[in-house]
Amino acid sequence: MFSKILIANRGEIAVRIIRACKEMGISTVAVFSEADREALHVSLADESICIGPAPAKDSYLSLSAVLSAAVVSGAGAIHPGYGLLSENARFAELCASCGITFIGPSPEVLARMGDKDEARRTMQIAGVPVIPGSGVINTLEEALAEAGKIGYPLLIKARAGGGGRGIRLVEAPEEFERAFLNASAEAKSAFGDGKMYLEKYLTPVKHVEMQLLCDSHGNAVCLGERECSIQRKNQKLIEESPSPAVDGTLRASLMEVCLKAVKAVNYVNAGTIEFLLDQSGNFYFMEMNTRLQVEHPVTEMVTGIDLVKWQIRVAAGLPLTFTQSDTALRGHAIECRINAENPSLGFRPSCGRVTLLHVPGGPWVRLDTALYQDYFIPPFYDSMIAKLIVHAKTREEALRKMQAALCELVIEGVDHNGELQMEILSDEAFLSGGYTTDFLAKRG
Ligand code: ADP
Ligand code: ADP
Ligand code: MG
Repeated sequence: MFSKILIANRGEIAVRIIRACKEMGISTVAVFSEADREALHVSLADESICIGPAPAKDSYLSLSAVLSAAVVSGAGAIHPGYGLLSENARFAELCASCGITFIGPSPEVLARMGDKDEARRTMQIAGVPVIPGSGVINTLEEALAEAGKIGYPLLIKARAGGGGRGIRLVEAPEEFERAFLNASAEAKSAFGDGKMYLEKYLTPVKHVEMQLLCDSHGNAVCLGERECSIQRKNQKLIEESPSPAVDGTLRASLMEVCLKAVKAVNYVNAGTIEFLLDQSGNFYFMEMNTRLQVEHPVTEMVTGIDLVKWQIRVAAGLPLTFTQSDTALRGHAIECRINAENPSLGFRPSCGRVTLLHVPGGPWVRLDTALYQDYFIPPFYDSMIAKLIVHAKTREEALRKMQAALCELVIEGVDHNGELQMEILSDEAFLSGGYTTDFLAKRG
C-alpha cells in the first residue's frame, strides 16, 4: 500500500479523497494554486505545495507542476479526482515514467475511451449497442452527407468533448453548416481538437449510467446504476440510485453488457459507462468516463462500498474482496449538486465570500463540500460548491429527507441553486420518476 498520496485536484473532491486516505493511514499531499491558499483541502492535507497561478491551465492542469510536486514530496501515487487531469493519458504516462502510480486506468485505456469516436467503435465490437451515428468527419461535404443518412434532429459532438461542452443540436438541414463550423471551432479552443462526429438525437430519453469497479487480477463488479436525467446544459444537477426506470431485468442486461465492455478493454479501476434509455427500454452507449464520477456518493450509499478507498486499493494491486453476488442495492439515494450560480440569470456563475453557512445533518444525510464560514469562493473554477446526498429505505422517504435537508442548508453571500433544487423536488414529473433529460428545458 502507498504511504503517501498526492491529490491533484481541489474543492470537495480533494477533501473527499483526503478523508479516504486519512482513514486508510496514508499521508496526503495537497497541491494548490495561488487563488486556493485558504482552501479547505490545503488545511486538511498533511503537506501542501503551491503549484502556480490561479488559472487552472497554469496550475492544476500543468503536467510538470503537478509531477514535480509529487516527486519533491515523495508521493508514491497521484489521485486525480474528476475533471482536470483525470482523463489525461499523457499525464498518466508521465506518472508511470516517474515511478508514480496514477490512480486510474492505464494510459492506453484513457486514450482509447477519451476519444469518443474510438470508444464508440470499441464498444460496438464488444457487442454494446451504441447510438446510431457517424465516425469522425473530415470535411463539411462529408458531414452533410452523413447528416442526410442519420436524419434530423441530430447532435454534432466533439471527439474530445466532456463536461457537456462541444455539443450542438441541429433540427434541420439549413442549420447544419453553421452549427458544424461553430461546434468545431469551440471544440478546437476548449479541447485543442476540432474533430467532430454525429449522433442521432434521441428524445425523450433518460440518462442512465453504470458504475464499474475492476481490479488488476481480472475481477470486475458492476455496482448498479445511477439515474442522471435532471440536467442543465447537458450537465447533471440531480442523481439517484437506483433509477426509477430500471427494473431487475433491465439492470441485469445493462450489467451483462458493461461487464463484457470492461473485459474487452482490460479495464482496471473505477469507471462509468453512460447510456441513453428510450421509452421502450432500449439502451445505447453514449460514453465511458474513465475516472471517479461527481455523483459517485449515491452508489456508495446504496452499496455501502467506499469507491475512493477501492480505487486506491486496486491501484496498489490489491484484489477486490467481494464479488457481483455480494453487491446488492439497498434502499434509495439521491444527490443534489449545489452550484454557485443564478438559475434565473441563465445559470450565471457567482463568486465571493460565504458570509453565513449552516450545514444540514441528521441520520443518512451527507454533505460533500469544501466550504466553510467566511471562505471566499474564487471566480476561476467550477461552480459546483457542494453535493447534498441522502439515503433512505424508499424513494419517497429519500425525497422527503432531501427536501428537509435542502430547507436546512444555508449558504449566504453567493447565489446558488438551492431553491431550484427544491422546486424540482416537488415537481410532479420528477416525483413520478418518469422524467427525461429535457425536464428542465421543458419547464422553461
Ligand atoms: P460527471 O458525469 O462526473 O458529472 P462531467 O463530464 O460533468 O462528469 O465532468 C466532471 C467535471 O469535470 C466537471 O467539473 C466538468 O466541468 C469537468 N470536465 C469534464 N470533462 C472535461 C474536459 N474535457 N475538459 C475540462 N473539464 C472537463
Ligand atoms: P459529455 O462528455 O460532455 O458528458 P455526453 O456524450 O455524455 O457528453 O452527453 C452529455 C449529455 O447530452 C447526455 O447526458 C444527454 O443528456 C445528452 N445527449 C448526449 N448524446 C445524446 C443523443 N444522441 N441524443 C440525445 N441526448 C444526448
Ligand atoms: Mg457524459
